[in-house]
Amino acid sequence: MISKAMKIEKIVVPTPFLVGPVNVYIIKGDSLTLVDTGPNSDQAKEVLKESLKKLGYLPEDIEQVIVTHHHPDHVGLVEDLFSHAKLIGHNNCDPWLRKDRSFIAFIENYFYSFFQQHAVPKGLIEKMVKVNRYFLGFTGRRGLDVVVKEGDVIDGLPGWKVIETPGHAQSHISLYYEAERLLIGGDHIISHISSNAIIEPPYDGEEKRPLTLLQYRQALKKCLDLNPRKVYSGHGEAIEDLKGLLDIRFKEHEDKANRLKSIIPEEGITSFELCKLYFPHIYLKEPMLTMSEIIGHLDLLEERGSVKTIVKNGIIFYEK
Ligand SMILES: [Zn+2]
Repeated sequence: MISKAMKIEKIVVPTPFLVGPVNVYIIKGDSLTLVDTGPNSDQAKEVLKESLKKLGYLPEDIEQVIVTHHHPDHVGLVEDLFSHAKLIGHNNCDPWLRKDRSFIAFIENYFYSFFQQHAVPKGLIEKMVKVNRYFLGFTGRRGLDVVVKEGDVIDGLPGWKVIETPGHAQSHISLYYEAERLLIGGDHIISHISSNAIIEPPYDGEEKRPLTLLQYRQALKKCLDLNPRKVYSGHGEAIEDLKGLLDIRFKEHEDKANRLKSIIPEEGITSFELCKLYFPHIYLKEPMLTMSEIIGHLDLLEERGSVKTIVKNGIIFYEK
């Protein structure tokens, strides 16, 4: 018997965000499945509806939606267009999608205390919290119907396995179809931009925050070990030479970490002061992304024993 090749249709949906348009994918398994939805905006909704129509579908035909992670450009329309469909994702997506009040309050409180320890001025922390709320405005409000974890096979999509790929987001999963070595990588793997390993608070009663860049690198290696032939990305073009791309990404991490280490003065410095030195033109505009970059690479240096932290008056300093 000759088996039919897996057909994955890509739809490009506009977003109002810096990252540009987002890719969503249709997979025709036993259930008609949509991977990610685009943000909750009129423009995204129209484009998605039109594109589905061209493929011969109505939104009502979609039987299940899998979300790669909780960011608004990926989960925006789960409520508006696909409230009828089964919603599938990682457990850490659920409180974001439900916009759980106590969870949001926990996140905001965590950011205040965490970034204060890193000497970020209060006004800038307020900005980060505001941006977080702004993003939540583009997220559909709806809890998950099915929680998936590492190794699970998705109902209705025989042969597709869940690969947990935390780092960019604590809720991030990728999907792997081993028979044809196809990976849907969401924002974990993007060809034209390096994903930011965004700082998030600890989940599930963990005491320590996740070291997001270390997690991210680990999850990249895990995907490389799968040896996918093609990676469908959350943004931009598909990737056919994953090894080549990841060689570049790992080198970027090394270069950044080395450069950061070289500008740490003898007497030590806070991550925020380093952020100002490293990203003088964008740290005020993008405090969360730039601080995540800096702290992530400092975590990498600390793990290798190249820098150490000391706490003075409740503020964390990095020393060589
Ligand atoms: Zn994302």
